[in-house]
Amino acid sequence: MSGGNLYPLGLRLAGRRVLVVGGGAVATRRVPALLDAGARVVLVSPELTPALRAYVDAGRLDWTSRRFEPSDLDDVWLVQVAVDDPAAAEAVSAAAAERRVFCVRADDRTAATAWTPAVTRHGPVTVAVSGGGDPRRSMAVRDAIRSFLGAGPGPLASGSARQGAPRGTGAGRVALVGAGPGDPELITVKGWRLLTEADVVVADRLVPGLLLDELRPDVELVDASKIPYGPARTQEEINRILVDRARAGSFVVRLKGGDPYVFGRGGEEVLACTAAGVPVTVVPGVTSSVAAPGVAGIPVTHRGVAHEFTVVSGHLPPDDPASLVDWSALARLRGTLVVLMGLKNLARITATLQVSGRPAGTPAAVVQEGTTGQQRVLRSTLGEIAAVVAGAGIRPPAVVVFGDVVTVLEHQPAE
Ligand code: SAH
Repeated sequence: MSGGNLYPLGLRLAGRRVLVVGGGAVATRRVPALLDAGARVVLVSPELTPALRAYVDAGRLDWTSRRFEPSDLDDVWLVQVAVDDPAAAEAVSAAAAERRVFCVRADDRTAATAWTPAVTRHGPVTVAVSGGGDPRRSMAVRDAIRSFLGAGPGPLASGSARQGAPRGTGAGRVALVGAGPGDPELITVKGWRLLTEADVVVADRLVPGLLLDELRPDVELVDASKIPYGPARTQEEINRILVDRARAGSFVVRLKGGDPYVFGRGGEEVLACTAAGVPVTVVPGVTSSVAAPGVAGIPVTHRGVAHEFTVVSGHLPPDDPASLVDWSALARLRGTLVVLMGLKNLARITATLQVSGRPAGTPAAVVQEGTTGQQRVLRSTLGEIAAVVAGAGIRPPAVVVFGDVVTVLEHQPAE
């Protein structure tokens, strides 16, 4: 079915069922924008990438673990086909056509009844570009508009300039890029530019999914998610991928949540690249240790209140012999204490801080998924926060903040 011009449309998907068939790299890139639009996403696939599994675990994605059946299309407004197998994709689009459900196909644009445009988002403004079926053209125009709107890369930045250049023709290199704490607009201008130039993107679980939605379709996306207690690729495997792809001539962007060097194992990846003779650069990111308290109205320092802030990892309990944190010394500090990865051990951490002298009444707060649409903030005290967090079902990722800064802006009018 060809011919006819495209009829552009903005879909209001909030609360509406959208089916995604497939659980691989394509689905990983497509699901975040659907969730961002508020769609009730139902995903059918025998397998899931760790990033998609994290959405399922967070209750944001409804997953059916099997192959597609036509009844999956019941009550669905739109279907996104994200499987490689053309016969399987064809079965979905045939069933969708029968039910008059629009169907986006990653594998074959000509067989699709709907196309997803190249998109750039600037606050409330969304610009969607269709290139008449040529994704490179639509992305080049989208990139130009993004530069024009000012938030994206400058005119030299060129996803677009590189387009058409065959992959792997330059000397390979790696950039470790901080993606920021969660809001996709909190990546740096430089980080964003390098992302648009990448041939290969190796992304963490904490990376904002919407950043991946804007990648060129020919970019290889490697999901390096390391879900706690779940399926994990070892750090050595990630290092190997970075080095191998760069040696093959690709520009590899290793995209990490927050800042690459704040509990991000960025140093190990730099060492691995250097040891292999692969050029590597680092682009700092906005770290959640400062940004998550910040958006919750908690400045990590405040004149006359705190002249220091300390960021520690709580992933090991205080009495663990492998812990490098001197919790009793931290208890004697007066300033702000920010604990990352501390939910699991929070009761033991707060008990240790109190035993070592920090008053039970010290203000405390927890910020879950700071800077995202799922942000939750609870305030309490050192003595009670562990119970409050457990009772409220606070989940990772979350930072816990202790200190008088927690209440310093409390009586400001809310935004
Ligand atoms: N490099 C990252 C931190 C990685 S460690 C950075 O600089 O932000 C992962 C921990 O970071 C999580 O367990 C959680 O404690 C914290 N974290 C990351 N993103 C967060 C967010 N949006 N809100 C709250 N905490 C977050």
